[in-house]
Amino acid sequence: MKFKMTFVCKGDKTKQEMDETCDQAYAVDQESAEKAAQDVIDRFNNTLRPGESERSVVRVKFVGGYAGHDWRKSNLVTKQDSYGGMYDEYTCARCKVTSRRYGLTRTLVRDAKYKSQKYDSCEWKLKKKDPKPKKPVKPLLVKPIQKKMTGRKKVRRRKQARELT
Ligand SMILES: [Zn+2]
Repeated sequence: MKFKMTFVCKGDKTKQEMDETCDQAYAVDQESAEKAAQDVIDRFNNTLRPGESERSVVRVKFVGGYAGHDWRKSNLVTKQDSYGGMYDEYTCARCKVTSRRYGLTRTLVRDAKYKSQKYDSCEWKLKKKDPKPKKPVKPLLVKPIQKKMTGRKKVRRRKQARELT
């Protein structure tokens, strides 16, 4: 999940703070986000290039949510589409969105049914799990049925009255 870390460069005398938003699957709360931030910084410090100086974490803020998908290759053998293009299939380990990667390009193209912007990250899945509370159902108002005097009854009564006389 996402977290924001603030760090400083050890060689920088002005101690200017810099922010970076990261995304690590194992950063699921404040504590694990702090560890993840330290891991990112350690990795950076262990692979310094000329001109770069060591960094140190100042603070970490757990954000939550996902910045991107956790793509896993799902086919063993490279596939071929109907146009002869070679591709590999990828499935997100978190939300099961699928995509393809053609040839040796670095970009993954989401499958047609996941084209919508909604599927840019796994958050659609999180939202789905938390549906809006249902509105209470109003009881139906039942009108009392009024019995109407039918015309026929009236006629019969008048007839009876005439017979009596
Ligand atoms: Zn996903």
